[in-house]
Amino acid sequence: MSSLVGPDEDDPRGKPPVPDDVQDAVRTLIEWAGDDPAREGLLDTPARVARAWKEYCLGYAEDPSLYLSRVFEEVGGYNEIVLLKDIPFQSHCEHHMAPIIGKAAIAYLPNDRVVGISKLARVLHGFARRLQVQERLTAEVADCIWEHLVPQGVAVVIEASHSCMTARGVRTPGVSMITSRMMGTFLEDPRSREEVLKLMGYG
Ligand SMILES: [Zn+2]
Repeated sequence: MSSLVGPDEDDPRGKPPVPDDVQDAVRTLIEWAGDDPAREGLLDTPARVARAWKEYCLGYAEDPSLYLSRVFEEVGGYNEIVLLKDIPFQSHCEHHMAPIIGKAAIAYLPNDRVVGISKLARVLHGFARRLQVQERLTAEVADCIWEHLVPQGVAVVIEASHSCMTARGVRTPGVSMITSRMMGTFLEDPRSREEVLKLMGYG
């Protein structure tokens, strides 16, 4: 063990073991990128990278719909829009495995039941912590709420910047991509759509 590494972050004790073939894969990638995986600073990198990827991709071990299984039916007659906005999230694009960093706005128009507001963010993270494309992420979040909360309408707007575009390729920092999915009332009624987009800050 190297004496140069810090106390907690790099102490492998108590951390799940990383299979050799996974570490080898990271070493191959380091070599391919042009560095020497045997140099001191990179010795523990393969295991660290592997654990980091497990964390980035925690969503594969989750069924996000379970977050919507505990609902409250006592809503005191509330039948207006419920909106959670500016939810920060991180995902990774499935084409480059590069970070997608952004924020989401998730709204629904309840029918007879509501869900704890933090659950909407959990649904988002459950799908975001996978290899994704932004369009599918948007659709999966909206579909999940539509199917399991059975509301009158769902609106999801995601705004994100893609490192594969800002840090490589055309290298255009500052650009962000916006995707949206409207269902039910928000799809069918232009006034409802306008209202929810305004509340989200896109009006
Ligand atoms: Zn990409």
